[in-house]
Amino acid sequence: MLGYTADEMYSLSVWDWDSDLNADTWSAGWQDHRLQEQFQIEKMHTRKDGSQIPVEVTASYINHDGNEYSLAVVQDIRKHKAAEALIWKQANFDALTELPNRQMFYDRLNHEIKKSHRESLPMALLFLDLDRFKEVNDSLGHDMGDLLLKEATKRIQRCVREADTVSRLGGDEFTIILGELKDCHAVERITKAVLTQLAIPFDLAGSLAYISVSIGITFYPDDALTADALIKNADQAMYAAKAQGRNRFHYFTPQMQEAAQKRLMLINDLHIAVEKQQFSLYYQPIIELSTGKIYKAEALIRWQHPTQGMISPAEFIPVAEETDLIVRLGQWVFLEATRQLSSWHQVCPKFQLSINTSPLQFQRQATLSEDWIAHLNSLNLPRNSMVVEITEGLLMDVSSSVKQQLLDFGRSGIQVAMDDFGTGYSSLSYLKKFDIDYIKIDQSFVRNMESDSNDLALCEAIIVMAHKLGIRVIAEGVETQAQCDLLIAMGCDYGQGYLFSRPIVADAFLALLTSQQNHDD
Ligand code: C2E
Ligand code: CA
Ligand code: CA
Repeated sequence: MLGYTADEMYSLSVWDWDSDLNADTWSAGWQDHRLQEQFQIEKMHTRKDGSQIPVEVTASYINHDGNEYSLAVVQDIRKHKAAEALIWKQANFDALTELPNRQMFYDRLNHEIKKSHRESLPMALLFLDLDRFKEVNDSLGHDMGDLLLKEATKRIQRCVREADTVSRLGGDEFTIILGELKDCHAVERITKAVLTQLAIPFDLAGSLAYISVSIGITFYPDDALTADALIKNADQAMYAAKAQGRNRFHYFTPQMQEAAQKRLMLINDLHIAVEKQQFSLYYQPIIELSTGKIYKAEALIRWQHPTQGMISPAEFIPVAEETDLIVRLGQWVFLEATRQLSSWHQVCPKFQLSINTSPLQFQRQATLSEDWIAHLNSLNLPRNSMVVEITEGLLMDVSSSVKQQLLDFGRSGIQVAMDDFGTGYSSLSYLKKFDIDYIKIDQSFVRNMESDSNDLALCEAIIVMAHKLGIRVIAEGVETQAQCDLLIAMGCDYGQGYLFSRPIVADAFLALLTSQQNHDD
């Protein structure tokens, strides 16, 4: 351990073994410790060749027949020290990229805040989230995902200055602390460099992967004074960058804070709303264009908020989806819709009601199709009196459970409509594979049909193609007679929109249905 042979050790005195130590320091050490009879210290021990190793010295004081002795056990603690260092590294650094992890990032951020305050120089915090990383991970595998993260780390590091801290918070989330900003333009320069670097395709063992990054930026002390607040700001700004189409950066603004606070309130209130049943369904007729008759309607959820009045589903459905409340909400919509359907069926036996569904309902509730089919049976409702509207996103879910549920619907006779067609992937192969009964042309195409010949051509193409596949077409958002006439000329099957009726309460809808039936009789 000390580098001496046994013979050498015998020929040397204890003091020679350790040049740092001599009789004076040893007894001085005892002066402090003697009352304890034993003491333990860690020190660096100089070996014969001059190199140093960490040791632990455990010394005991012995008084024998009036003579004082001490017995010291010197232990090599290199392994112990190395393990300690490893643990420290694991606790503070990310194993994959070797960047500081969340823990270390937090320490550094607090440190930089103090420094920034001391030196009266601003500091920026950047929050980075890779766009489409999940797709790479899912399609090329986790190994390739790891490779991409490592390469992305190198690229980000190339863009920053020596003193800046790049950290990985986990997954595809990174942060950059840009301290001591003498020139705030540096922030934009670095941000743009990172955007450019990450947009370059990644060569992952022969496969090219294309990603990008969304970046949120916030400043100390202008935007916030504490680490937590800065992190929250940068995160919100990052979401704003994502919402604006990704592959870009966004500065934090106070309006974002307000929006985030509003969202939090909304989440809170949504929980209460589910308990207190503040929801209702409105019904919008769907017109058979060749006859002008109503045989179908779409159920649209409404939230009567106790203080804020009516809140649009466009606002609260996304929040319900983020918090999984959508599963309970969706179940309520189904039960309420079938309850109405039961009573309207007496008036109009051909009547069919559509409900909207969120992909999450299928993903979270594995027995959804089973439960719904059973419920329709228990109410003695024909299965084809119900249409389930799905979005294209659902068909992108490759899990077998989702596929199975859609096929269950098809087999049972419950019909499936593809909502907002044309705004997503609009994949023909999916339509064929999943037994889709209706396509709903998104209102954005119908709106511009008269003015934009492209949209007109698109509508026509969708109709022709759908008919070839045996799928019927519903045009959404029909507001003018001119649009209606164009759609009829193109052979569109159904229309829905303000031209015919806005969504209305159940009683009003029943009145509409009854008057049509009386007319027929
Ligand atoms: P969506 O499924 O595309 O529903 C059609 C939306 O267009 C409805 O808005 C409807 O009121 C509106 N609309 C109908 N005709 C016209 C028109 O002629 N012009 C214009 N400008 N708009 C028209 P709403 O009720 O606000 O619903 C918005 C979205 O919220 C729905 O879009 C749907 O995605 C979602 N949603 C509504 N109810 C539910 C529900 O029960 N469950 C789920 N998961 N989502 C729902
Ligand atoms: Ca819909
Ligand atoms: Ca729609």
